[in-house]
Amino acid sequence: MVLLATILLLLPLTSSIVSAAEASDKPTCTIRGLSQNCDFFSTRKQQAILSLPDGTWFSNPSFEGKRVDPPQLDTDKRFKRAKELFEYAKTAVLDEISKGQPLDKLTTEERALMKKVETLKLNSLSVSSKSPSCADMAPDAYYSGEDHSVTLCAGMLHYPDAQLIKVIGHEIGHPIDPCSSRFPLVRINGEALKKLSDLKSSWPDSIRNNSDVAGAVVQIKKYTPSEYAMFSQIMNFRDPKSINYLTENLILSEVAPAIEAEKHPAQGAYSCLIRTKAFREVSAQDIKLVADRFAQSNALDQPDSVVQDLSSKVEKRLRPYSQCIWSAGGRSQMGEAMSDVWGAKVFGRWLTDNPPKSEVEKVAAISLHAAGACRQVTRSQPDLDSLPLNKITESADRQIQKVHPSDFTRADLIVLADPRAQQALGCQSTDTENCLKLVGRQGPFRSGQDPTAVPTLKSTEAIR
Ligand SMILES: [Zn+2]
Repeated sequence: MVLLATILLLLPLTSSIVSAAEASDKPTCTIRGLSQNCDFFSTRKQQAILSLPDGTWFSNPSFEGKRVDPPQLDTDKRFKRAKELFEYAKTAVLDEISKGQPLDKLTTEERALMKKVETLKLNSLSVSSKSPSCADMAPDAYYSGEDHSVTLCAGMLHYPDAQLIKVIGHEIGHPIDPCSSRFPLVRINGEALKKLSDLKSSWPDSIRNNSDVAGAVVQIKKYTPSEYAMFSQIMNFRDPKSINYLTENLILSEVAPAIEAEKHPAQGAYSCLIRTKAFREVSAQDIKLVADRFAQSNALDQPDSVVQDLSSKVEKRLRPYSQCIWSAGGRSQMGEAMSDVWGAKVFGRWLTDNPPKSEVEKVAAISLHAAGACRQVTRSQPDLDSLPLNKITESADRQIQKVHPSDFTRADLIVLADPRAQQALGCQSTDTENCLKLVGRQGPFRSGQDPTAVPTLKSTEAIR
């Protein structure tokens, strides 16, 4: 009897000792954990770049010497590789949206997101390109709604595959974030547009006097012969009249419909990211600031009453799109955070198929965020996102311009939250709520009608 009780007592005790020992061996799934509090970089202080056997490399934020020329890379070969990764990432995102269901089993919203992903194309710009978005060897990439494409700058191509594919997944996420999804993907009929803009005098007064429509025609004209375009990126403040007019005149045809934020397949993840403070929300005060600034610069030398009037008009117009502000000098972090959700999904799947084999490869997989975060640490820059808002000494102006959450936030709360990534990187999960699993689930969503109403949800409510 006594013996049996001892054995029973020993069993759970032994297993807890083993798991505690296992756990302590593993780094946490955070930038600090995986880069050993940035010591990974500082012990390699003499090296400006850290290379991998396959020829890819990433910069060392601890390097303090003179700028060195990066190794020559075969840009054509790397772009070919990037194209393969782009197709892989597209498939991964499509699978995440469809969850393996056939098209006819999917909702309108899911099909709309799929259409936007399927029609995306990839561009690459060489170092000599005049594009201001692709300066020098800056590791950069961006989504453009003007022709519905993802551009990889030459400086991005040398990055290790695991990091490159995360960036590609992130860019694919831009046209399907809950804000961009509220705008349709359209095909532009270049011939019809040319005819219309050449015959300005024949425009009906309702169009000529509507600056939104006239502006849209002038703007879209620049983008043809693009086949596809995302309307939200073309016009800052959409007037439905302009889309209707252009559609009636066969200039635009809808490829994927606009979907309501409430019905977005990733709405659960969105609410979760707000709860876990993975991105800075646009507040009512932010909107007012943006509107005031817009009015001040657009009603120069006008009486105060005119400026105020314009400001309140803009404010009213922005309210339903509170998390979509990216114009008039204000930036919402929502688009970047939600794009990271898709990036994390692609990243997790890729790491499962291609697990890193060494310590360098593990850090290489998160090299962009690690370098950004560790630069902040080595140069003792404050992490603005970790400070309460009232402690931020910088002006609200600068804060509102910050389009990306900090590298710590992006990596720790989103990218490294994917269980597949955690498994492949051999790290131990933190207690942070995993928002990624809420993609494709139904859950309460904040419509944005009232920017001050932040939902207070229990995590179980959103998982339902
Ligand atoms: Zn982005």
